[in-house]
Amino acid sequence: MKCPECGEPMTSARENYSYTASGLPYVTLIGVEVRRCKACGEHEVVLPRIEQLHRAIALAVISKRARLTAAEVRYLRKYLGWSGTDFAKHMGVTPESVSRWENEREQMSAVADRLLRLMVATKAPVSEYPLDSLADLAEDSAPVRLRVEPAKGGWRAEAVAA
Ligand SMILES: [Zn+2]
Repeated sequence: MKCPECGEPMTSARENYSYTASGLPYVTLIGVEVRRCKACGEHEVVLPRIEQLHRAIALAVISKRARLTAAEVRYLRKYLGWSGTDFAKHMGVTPESVSRWENEREQMSAVADRLLRLMVATKAPVSEYPLDSLADLAEDSAPVRLRVEPAKGGWRAEAVAA
């Protein structure tokens, strides 16, 4: 495997990898293949079944009890495949509201928080997400911290304590 930047050979190893490209600050992928170039410092991570990875993360995010953070709202909106304008239409709010939610200038209402979780839950098979958990959301928001591991048939996401 040659480096796409400089053409030198890359080495491959299994690592625990902080998946910041997701836009979520505390998601760690366990034992995934990372290729590194010693010559220029370039690296690439190999992510099999990426759609299932993003679904496992989305389901773990909507399963947390604390209210959604700005980064999580943005992650879930992108998971649903929507632009800011599409998302505003589905939520029945203005695009400016979406922008304020995603830039930490305004917290979503409790009703909007539940609606977004429901839209994510109904996109994924509902059997994987108990709708009862919507009844028990907290008042405060806190970011989710996830350990995401390759598993049989896909990925398994597990919340870890802060
Ligand atoms: Zn290189």
